[in-house]
Amino acid sequence: MTEIAHYINGAHTESTSGRSQAVFNPATGTSSKSVALASVSEVESAIAAAKAAWPTWSKMPALRRARILDRFKSILWERGDQLAEIISNEHGKTHDDAMGEVTRGLEVVEFAVGAPNFLKGEYSENVGTGVDSHMIRQSLGVCAGIVPFNFPAMVPMWMFPVALATGNTFILKPSERVPSTSLKIAEWLTEAGLPEGVFNVVQGDKEAVDVLLSHPDVKAISFVGSTPIAQYIHQTGSANGKRVQALGGAKNHMIIMPDADLDMAANALMGAGYGSAGERCMAISVAVPVTDAVADALIEKLVPMIKALKIGPSVDSTSEMGPLISAQHLDKVRGYIDAGETDGAKVVVDGRDFKQNQQGYENGYFIGGTLIDNVTPDMSIWKDEIFGPVLSVVRRDSYQDAVDLIHAHKYANGTAVFTRDGDVARNFNQDIEVGMVGINVPIPVPMAFHSFGGWKASIFGDHHMHGMEGVRFYTRIKTTTSRWPSGIRTDAEFTMPTLG
Ligand code: NAD
Repeated sequence: MTEIAHYINGAHTESTSGRSQAVFNPATGTSSKSVALASVSEVESAIAAAKAAWPTWSKMPALRRARILDRFKSILWERGDQLAEIISNEHGKTHDDAMGEVTRGLEVVEFAVGAPNFLKGEYSENVGTGVDSHMIRQSLGVCAGIVPFNFPAMVPMWMFPVALATGNTFILKPSERVPSTSLKIAEWLTEAGLPEGVFNVVQGDKEAVDVLLSHPDVKAISFVGSTPIAQYIHQTGSANGKRVQALGGAKNHMIIMPDADLDMAANALMGAGYGSAGERCMAISVAVPVTDAVADALIEKLVPMIKALKIGPSVDSTSEMGPLISAQHLDKVRGYIDAGETDGAKVVVDGRDFKQNQQGYENGYFIGGTLIDNVTPDMSIWKDEIFGPVLSVVRRDSYQDAVDLIHAHKYANGTAVFTRDGDVARNFNQDIEVGMVGINVPIPVPMAFHSFGGWKASIFGDHHMHGMEGVRFYTRIKTTTSRWPSGIRTDAEFTMPTLG
């Protein structure tokens, strides 16, 4: 049994905590490694390393920091498939899907390499006679990222490239279920020339997180995960005086209007509902066809496609969908389908009894694609995030009813409308109270130079991730007003200074 541990001060660091947890391959259901769960003192040593590295790193010219990240980006381009293999092994997603997340993460590194440009600041000459004013963005210090299991490479890369490019040092706390990707990233950052202590990885659970949330030397926390934990992180971190951005869970609806291209909509629902086994915060989990006729026609198209889904391990290059993350999660997803049936919904395609027959994978956490019709807003399968390959159909009679349904949900991460009507699309974009919107695009994940984040119970804190929102989160502004002797008044001023 190999133990996966930390990366502190530029080197792999064994754990002495005496606590660990098994790491499984979800495709086989077996475990050949464990992950260390950090003690308080181990987290403190990572914080101390990051704190010691900050003065030099933050004062290094932004261009030199960017060059180091640029070298890291080249390594990612060359060896991204190695990272994808590690991801698939611990998460279960297909190789192509894992490569997709590596690329989306890499794009944030590409954005971060532009730091010398976006850190330029502002300057106003003669704000008063002989008086000038300028604003600069400075780093915060030690920042921490606490991330979920479903994107072991991409979600950390929403955070640390921008944090490092803007002069912060960083501690990453990966998910206990997928701990290895972060160590490879740390190795490659060191290889790219990152000074020791600038990027550290601490493996662990709540005990490690609570140290990060309470330690006075940690200045900012970025979190992505489920809503109850996001809320806890935001409340605790904020109460301890830290800047916090905490992204939570989701339930994303896609409206299909009567004029939509139904083949396009069905294909979109297949990818968005069943890709990555539905374990994406931007997965579409609710289809909202407007009118029964649209619902019937859509379901007719979807059923054979769902039944034909190729479900298998990532090592089989023909697999379109892998297993769920754990045996417990498999039980939970099956339980939601049971609950939907008990509540009166119609299970049109049932994935509960799916059997994986490929040799060696019979005990993996596989489930079949599932489609449930006649779902209503009082059912738990509509209210809760299932995080599995389960697509609910909630039928609606009008566009406005469909919008009202979306507004009734507590989550507001992403949403989409499929239509050929420009008025409908424009009104939807303007009126819908959701953070990320797709018009004939099912998974509207913003590019790295825009920012990612939802509304309502899908986020706690003011800043979305990466793009300029990321820059704002990881920097604080300093505004300086200056004048030089030739302009100085000699008499004392006791009233509120006005410069004009
Ligand atoms: P999770 O909330 O269980 O875990 C996320 C992180 O929090 C992990 O690092 C974990 O170790 C830590 N954690 C768990 N319990 C904790 C506790 N009690 N105290 C302190 N820390 C704790 O989430 P998950 O199951 O790993 O990931 C799936 C969830 O993440 C889904 O809800 C999904 O929607 C969400 N997610 C959201 C986004 C987004 O952008 N909004 C993106 C990806 C995933």
